[in-house]
Amino acid sequence: MLKNKKIIIIGGGIGGAATVLALHRIGFEPVVYEQTKQLREVGAGIALWANATHILKNFNLLEEALGVGYVTTNYQFNSQNGNELVNISVASFELPVIAIHRAELHQLLWHHVPNENFVLGQTFEELEIAENKVRAHFSSGLIVEGDALIGADGLRSRVRDALKCDQPLMYRKFKTWRGLTDYVPRGYHPGYIQEFLGGGKGFGFMMLGKGRMYWYAAATATEAQPDAPIGRKKQLEIMFQDWFASVPELITATDEADILTTDLYDRPPTQPWSKLNITLLGDAAHPMLPTMGQGACTALEDAFVVAKCLQQQANPTLAFQQYELERFPRTKVIVEQSLRAGKMGELHHPFAVTLRNVFMKLMKATITSSFKSLHAYRA
Ligand SMILES: Cc1cc2nc3c(=O)[nH]c(=O)nc-3n(C[C@H](O)[C@H](O)[C@H](O)COP(=O)(O)OP(=O)(O)OC[C@H]3O[C@@H](n4cnc5c(N)ncnc54)[C@H](O)[C@@H]3O)c2cc1C
Repeated sequence: MLKNKKIIIIGGGIGGAATVLALHRIGFEPVVYEQTKQLREVGAGIALWANATHILKNFNLLEEALGVGYVTTNYQFNSQNGNELVNISVASFELPVIAIHRAELHQLLWHHVPNENFVLGQTFEELEIAENKVRAHFSSGLIVEGDALIGADGLRSRVRDALKCDQPLMYRKFKTWRGLTDYVPRGYHPGYIQEFLGGGKGFGFMMLGKGRMYWYAAATATEAQPDAPIGRKKQLEIMFQDWFASVPELITATDEADILTTDLYDRPPTQPWSKLNITLLGDAAHPMLPTMGQGACTALEDAFVVAKCLQQQANPTLAFQQYELERFPRTKVIVEQSLRAGKMGELHHPFAVTLRNVFMKLMKATITSSFKSLHAYRA
């Protein structure tokens, strides 16, 4: 009976937290090893589309998520001046779309897992496969043995390295900034995620719970480009000064210390990502650009499916084969779609930007149905 066996999870981000919860709920004894000394998430928001709130519902966490998050009704794309291009109503699903602070989502998942199921301050270094067991070695000298191991250790996964799934990460020539503020701009439509598309740049914002506004910006940039000497806030104020008024308003209202910056990477989808009784999950398995807002949503789906496969199949090697078989096609489509959406944002020339905007208006119905089918998926 696999439930008596030990399942090691490396990494306690949203994917690792969801996996330990999913396994714990169906009677397993998983243990997460996380490198940081404190469980935490970055100060930013996240959109949980219906495919992800379906997982929260399965975890009996939907009501709690609604209590701390904010219900989103529309996803609206605009030109940089605020002319509407596409407006997708996301209120028609049987499940809500929730915009939530990442730390609150993380807390929500951890809150339902006993303390003994996680070990903090342990950095995974190497794997050893010994007959039906797997041993994880940590930089502290700790060695733990388990019956199966799941690498949920993010974009630069050491577990992935140990499995020798060598497809390299690709820098996609975009850098993002994320900010949080209590300021609600005058042009905000309640319930909306509003995005603005310009030449080689984009900006979006949404309300989270407790009246906070979360905004994100992206622009083409070389890899590891440092902040401008004037500072990242001033740089953004200049970059977006002549955009729709809510955009510069939000930047000005945000403390510089509350603006995060991140380079964007993905990895062309490749198999396998499992070997014997070891598998990967979330960004470790299928990192994607955030253009479709699906990285954490698919990590939640992964957690639910890997737990289901381990429940149905007593042999972890076979369970992980079944899990990968189910997850690879789904995540491949989203990684590729996210990259295509990123390419649309790369256009710089004013003519190309106008053409893209006209194209988006004409393709309204197709864009809407493509989003809806992505969100209609139920793991
Ligand atoms: C700008 C931006 C906006 C985004 N917006 C959205 C959105 O709106 N909706 C959405 O669904 N997704 C969004 N995403 C994607 C989402 O953030 C990620 O896909 C998601 O957080 C991945 O979770 P994860 O648990 O797989 O990895 P991570 O969150 O990276 O967690 C990995 C964990 O593993 C730990 N770890 C790493 N190495 C080791 C080691 N060697 N030993 C032990 N522990 C280790 C880390 O400390 C970390 O806690 C966005 C991403 C970006 C960059």
